[in-house]
Amino acid sequence: MTVHPHISVANIAEAFDAMHWRELNKVHLNASDIAPVMEMLAQNENIRVADIGESFEGRPIKRYSVGTGDKVILAWTQMHGDEPTATAAVLDWLQILTSAHALALSGLPADWMNQVTLYVVPMLNPDGAQRRTRVNGQGIDINRDAKALQSPEGRLLHDQVSELKPDIAFNLHDQNPYYTAGTSSNPATIAFLAPAYHEDKHVDGPRLRAKQLIAGMADVLGHYIPGCIARYDDTYSFRSFGDNIAATGASTILIESGAAKQDPNRQVARKMNVIALQSALEAFLNDTVNRYSLADYYRIPENREDGLCDMKLYNLTMGGDLPYLADISILIDGKNDTGTVGAIGDLRTINGFTNINGQGLKVLPEKGFEVDSPLTLNDETYLNLLKAGFSYFIDTQNQLSITTTMPVQVVATAPVATPLLPGAPAYFIVGDSHSNQPSAAVLNGRWHALG
Ligand SMILES: [Zn+2]
Repeated sequence: MTVHPHISVANIAEAFDAMHWRELNKVHLNASDIAPVMEMLAQNENIRVADIGESFEGRPIKRYSVGTGDKVILAWTQMHGDEPTATAAVLDWLQILTSAHALALSGLPADWMNQVTLYVVPMLNPDGAQRRTRVNGQGIDINRDAKALQSPEGRLLHDQVSELKPDIAFNLHDQNPYYTAGTSSNPATIAFLAPAYHEDKHVDGPRLRAKQLIAGMADVLGHYIPGCIARYDDTYSFRSFGDNIAATGASTILIESGAAKQDPNRQVARKMNVIALQSALEAFLNDTVNRYSLADYYRIPENREDGLCDMKLYNLTMGGDLPYLADISILIDGKNDTGTVGAIGDLRTINGFTNINGQGLKVLPEKGFEVDSPLTLNDETYLNLLKAGFSYFIDTQNQLSITTTMPVQVVATAPVATPLLPGAPAYFIVGDSHSNQPSAAVLNGRWHALG
């Protein structure tokens, strides 16, 4: 039986809508993106700021705190530099938590700041954020450095945990957009985990509390994003921070922000982070954690990998003289703006954010246009060549100039003819399965009708 939330998160959702930092609605965040907001929060009389160290390349890492109570909560974000969603969320949360108006609407006890001290480290990996990489300035994945502690950022997090001894630790990440909630076709917009602290996955008191808190957060979020909440696999990860911090007796909670439909900047997950964090804080301080059970935690569907793709073409005809039916998934790497073929075959267990019925359509053989004299590719000449079935250009003499804004695949040497394979750049022509007349082109993973 699902327990209904007893907290006033609806008001927090409204507070988020009114108060979130609009300038942080971006696909990526680095230190200079958040600096003005950090500066404004530092002026807030309820917020204390501590310089706790520097990144490998010398960028400052700051800790913001609210409250003076004995109960301790520690949250950190963006230890993977290319995972910024929760950074915006914790900065929103600090703003909301320290607004008298928002607080009056919340379900927190009036004296909550005397009960708890909340520490937040936004953007633990500013060097990675600068380059938009998962790893830090040493190329180290900080989240695999919990034992070796060779990264300054990892040492800093380790020291914070040792010094503050948090009751609850929030480890905030982003996950790839292709996870689904269980076997559904819904994106896992939020995935939770109470990490194991031992290979045998024991559940001690703090881990039980983490699972109960997660069950409560999932229940609350279910009102906003039903069917889009998942539970991450809890295989013990010896080198990871979450697992090691769970071993210190902190109720450790991993939150992964994921995709939602039509939401490239993950603003849905951002808002859900704020609501989840707030609901956990309220449950902790109001002593309502025990309203949820382990069974409630395990009822959250599993976070299923590769359940989604950016575009799925299904029931296409492929092959020349020996035709067969297949589906093709397309993955788009937003960071580098490259579309690649994900998988080919029976993809019934994979759904696309966009799905195109390929019945009556055929993937035409890859055909390269040899550029043997100067050629300017504008929209018109390009479209004509696509309609003639050319999916790429062989430009050995550097004679091609491109003015079209449509994606063009150019190779410097003629490739040996290859079939379309997973991992290849997603450029191909689709035509009528009987007449072979080209009718559409997939260019860098995007569908273009050739009307
Ligand atoms: Zn991560």
